[in-house]
Amino acid sequence: MNSRRIVAITRWTFSIVALAGIIFVYRRWLHVNPTTVALTLLLYILVLASLWSLRLAIVISVLATLGYNFYFLPPVNTLTIADPQNWLALFSFLSTALIGSRLSQKARDEAEDARCRQRELETLFALSREMLATDNVAALIDGIPRAVVATTKARSAVLYLLDEDLIFQAGTELLSEHERLYLRQEARDGNGINRTGDELRVVLKVGVKPRGILMLRGAVLSDGALEAIGTIISVSLDRAKALENVAHSEATKESERLRSLMIDSITHELRTPLTSIKGAASALLSDEIQRDEDRRELLTIIDQESDRINRLVSQAVEMAQLDARQVHMTFEPVDIDEVISGAIKDVSWVEERNPIDVRIQQKEPVRADFEFLKKVLGNLLENAAKYSAEGSPIVLTAEVQGNKLAVSVADKGIGIDPHEQSLIFDRFYRAPIHNQRISGTGMGLSISRSIVEAHGGSIDVVSRPGEGSVFTFTIPLAT
Ligand code: ADP
Repeated sequence: MNSRRIVAITRWTFSIVALAGIIFVYRRWLHVNPTTVALTLLLYILVLASLWSLRLAIVISVLATLGYNFYFLPPVNTLTIADPQNWLALFSFLSTALIGSRLSQKARDEAEDARCRQRELETLFALSREMLATDNVAALIDGIPRAVVATTKARSAVLYLLDEDLIFQAGTELLSEHERLYLRQEARDGNGINRTGDELRVVLKVGVKPRGILMLRGAVLSDGALEAIGTIISVSLDRAKALENVAHSEATKESERLRSLMIDSITHELRTPLTSIKGAASALLSDEIQRDEDRRELLTIIDQESDRINRLVSQAVEMAQLDARQVHMTFEPVDIDEVISGAIKDVSWVEERNPIDVRIQQKEPVRADFEFLKKVLGNLLENAAKYSAEGSPIVLTAEVQGNKLAVSVADKGIGIDPHEQSLIFDRFYRAPIHNQRISGTGMGLSISRSIVEAHGGSIDVVSRPGEGSVFTFTIPLAT
C-alpha cells in the first residue's frame, strides 16, 4: 500500500472516530442544549474542510447531520423529527456545513495555486539567470538540460536541436535510440506543448520555424510555465548567437585594422632603407665613383640598410607568430649576465653611441628562453639609445624581487608623456612626435611584452618627459 493511501485511511478513520467522540461526550457527560451541539459539530466540520479534503468534509457533514438528528433532536434515539422547526434547524446545519466546507476547499485551492505559480516564477527566474551566465553558444547549449533539471527539479531533461541534429541530456534517465528518433520526429512536426504521463514536451521555435524540442520527465509545471521555459531557451540561444556574431565581426574588424596598420608601418619603414640602397647601388653602377674609399662607403650603406630591412621583416614575422602563438620557447635556467652581454653584443651600435653601465646586484639564474630574453633586452637597449642624446648614459640593473628577477634599463632621454605610457606597449603605437624624426615601427615593445608575459613576468615603464625613462621587466627565478 502506498503512503498516500495510508494517510487517506488514517484521516478518514480519525475524522469518523472524532465525530463519534464529540457526539458521545455531549450525550453522556455534558448535557447541553442542541444548539451548542450543532455549533460544535459545525466547527469540527469546518476545521476538517480547511485541513483536509472536501469529500471527507461532505461525508462527515452527512454523518454529523444523522447523528445530531438521532441523538439530540426530539424524539431522541429515532431518525424522525417531531417539530417542523427542527427540520429547518437540521437543514440549516447541513447546508452551513456543506457551504463552509466548499468555501474552505476553494480558499485552499487558491492558496495552493498561488504557491504553485510562485514556485514556477522562481523556477523561470532561476532558469533565466542560468541562461544569462554564459555568452558562448556551445557552452550554453551544453548547459541547458543541466540548468533545466536543476531549476525545475525534473528527473531528466533532453534538448534536441534541429539545425545541429544533436541531442543534449541531463538527469537520471537517458533516452533510448527509439525515443531519440521519436523526439526528432516530434521536433520537426510537433507544435506547442504535449504531455504523456509525467513526460512534458515543448517545441522550441525561431519565429514560426521549429528549432528543436525540450523534453522533461518528472517535473510538475503548468502549460504557461513550460511555454515560458521554451521561450527563455530560444531567446537565450538567439542572444548568445548574436553576441558571438558581434564578437566575431569585432575580431575581424580588429584584425583588419591591425593588418593595415602593419602594412602602413612596414612600407613606411621600408621606404627609407630602400631609397638609400637604391641611391648607393645606382651610384656604384654609374662610373662616377672612382675612389675605392667611396665605393666602400656606399657598399657599407647597402649592407647596413639591408640589415635594417631584414630586422624589420623579422620583427613583423615574429610578431605575427607571437600573435598566433606559433613560437616555441624553451624555458631553462639562464644566467642574466650572459643574456645581458649577448644583448649588448647583438645591438653593438648602442654601446658605440651611448655608454652602458651594467649593475647586476644578484646573480640568481632565471627560468627563461635565452634567445627571446636577449631580444627583449636588445629592444629596450635600442630604444634607450634611440630616444636619448648621443653620449647620454644607459644604466642596466638586475635585482631579485620576491621570486622574480627585475631587470631595468634606464636612460636620460626625452621621456614619455604620462598619457602615452600605457599606450606604448600596444602594437604599432609610436609617439606622434617621433613618427618622422626617429625611425621605428611601434612593434618592439609589443613584442617584448608578449615575450615577457609568455615567461610569466610583466613589463612596465616609469618616465618623466625631458628627464628619461626606466623600463623594468620581471622574469621568474629558476629555483
Ligand atoms: P619603435 O621604437 O619602433 O617606435 P617601440 O614599440 O619600441 O617601437 O616603442 C613604442 C614607442 O614608445 C616609441 O615610438 C616611443 O614613442 C616610445 N618609447 C619607447 N622606448 C622609449 C624610451 N626609452 N624613451 C622614450 N620613448 C620611448
